[in-house]
Amino acid sequence: MLRLTNIILPLDHPEADLTGAILSRLKIAPEDLLSFTIFRRGYDARRRSAITLVYTIDAQVRNEAEVLMRMQGQPHVGPSPDTSYKFVAQAQPAQPTRPVVIGLGPCGIFAALILAQSGFRPIILERGKVVRERTKDTWDLWRKGELDPESNVQFGEGGAGTFSDGKLHSGIKDPKHYGRKVLTEFVKAHAPEEILYVSKPHIGTFRLVKMVEAMRDTIESLGGEFRFKSKVTDLEIDGGQVRGVMLENGERIATDHVVLAVGHSARDTFQMLYDRGVYVEAKPFSIGFRAEHPQSMVDRARFGRFAGHPLLGAADYKLVHHCRNGRTVYSFCMCPGGTVVAATSEAGRVVTNGMSQYSRNERNANSGIVVGISPADYPGHPLAGIDFQRELESRAYVLGGSTYDAPGQLVGDFIAGRPSTELGAVQPSYKPGVHLTDLATALPDYAIEAIREALPAFDKQIKGFAMHDAVLTGVETRTSSPIRIKRQDNYQSMNVKGLFPAGEGAGYAGGILSAAVDGIRVAEAVALSMVGRDNDA
Ligand code: FAD
Repeated sequence: MLRLTNIILPLDHPEADLTGAILSRLKIAPEDLLSFTIFRRGYDARRRSAITLVYTIDAQVRNEAEVLMRMQGQPHVGPSPDTSYKFVAQAQPAQPTRPVVIGLGPCGIFAALILAQSGFRPIILERGKVVRERTKDTWDLWRKGELDPESNVQFGEGGAGTFSDGKLHSGIKDPKHYGRKVLTEFVKAHAPEEILYVSKPHIGTFRLVKMVEAMRDTIESLGGEFRFKSKVTDLEIDGGQVRGVMLENGERIATDHVVLAVGHSARDTFQMLYDRGVYVEAKPFSIGFRAEHPQSMVDRARFGRFAGHPLLGAADYKLVHHCRNGRTVYSFCMCPGGTVVAATSEAGRVVTNGMSQYSRNERNANSGIVVGISPADYPGHPLAGIDFQRELESRAYVLGGSTYDAPGQLVGDFIAGRPSTELGAVQPSYKPGVHLTDLATALPDYAIEAIREALPAFDKQIKGFAMHDAVLTGVETRTSSPIRIKRQDNYQSMNVKGLFPAGEGAGYAGGILSAAVDGIRVAEAVALSMVGRDNDA
């Protein structure tokens, strides 16, 4: 199989032109092209008047070796890499113990899947409920302002990304093609096939719910065991080695191998780990607001006359601005055609985030507009970042009227430094509601100053970004974990053997795909350790 990269064709090219481009690139006759598949299809919208499609193709040709020889030195033709997944270890017939996976987000799901596929029959502990029940609880906060602290946007089967845009791209280095394994397993679990080849795949909320159920069935069929409403409240550590986990109901589960994939919002679990002496350190994260604009405005700004083209879908954006005060403001988790969601897991606090459906056809585009901060902004204690997040989230709750409404302000008023009293052309989507106010006190002064400077700068890239009626809601604080549960090269904690910190909560991932990939890496390290090959990890 040959891999052809960077085949560029106009957006509306006839289908036959792709075949023509392959033949012309390889300089072969039509009968010598046996078949081809699209490995990736992206677009280049840097010139709005001439948007192009950019293909990566895998082609099967007659006399492959000869064609390859002729193409030597051609940077965009080569042998297709083998992206199939290879298991690193299989369980022995009478494996004495079972591994435990804590947390059923993308990281825990993939750790459990790989362990199950390798015959290790993992026990999976999840503090929240199965995804259908969890969906109802999550909707209760959005519709009625009733929060269940153990079943919400952050906690429950599927993890934090279940009610999301389901974006699946990531900038991680992936030399072993683990991302491909993730996408392939998602497709087996009924994700749309196109996620295998479009350059910026997304799934959307409703499909994610079904996929999570399908993956649970697969893991169960391979001997995995799920325990919901099973919060881990303690670890048993003996002589620097994990020996078991304790559940909230007092039950002890004995194990020597624990994957800790608890996500960035498990603040009580972070405290427990710190109290038990597990090595943790503070790490940078970001804070800010969610911005909502008309999607049609973003589409026009990005795609010009091609706005609305079915192959392009709803437009996204990625913005960065380096401010005079030394801070950097950037767009985070942009959701085209989506809604802003209430994402708190703690009572008396307000947190924003974004989600969408597969169709991405809601009126507004939303994204976090956030400022990078570091432990120098919350000095003193490894867990100080959590206190800082809590303080901002509590302040947002009060500013929003103490009802789980989000405090909001029009962009024009925010830049001018006056409170908002009336909505304009943009209707915010956050539920249960938005309370208009002045957001100037919602974040530290340096962050407010930075965002005020960044919004007009972003307007130069997306015309209309600083429009008066665009709406900011807040606060956006759960951008990534405020701590790192540091691990060694063998993926085990710095000071507790058998404990494998993983995913976003441990500070080793940011997003669904990277968390899932980290789950695979850690599962491999667990598998190797369980068959006595720790040093291979
Ligand atoms: P999580 O998904 O957070 O999963 C951790 C799990 O551990 C949870 O289910 C939790 O209940 C459980 N848990 C915690 N403590 C315990 C305990 N003590 N005992 C038992 N179980 C416990 N990323 C993207 O890439 N694309 C997107 O479009 C996107 N949109 C998002 C939208 C929203 C609203 C949110 C909140 C996040 C979004 N993200 C998105 C981020 C993404 O969801 C996370 O990066 C990802 O889920 C992290 O995976 P994880 O498995 O490491 O942790």
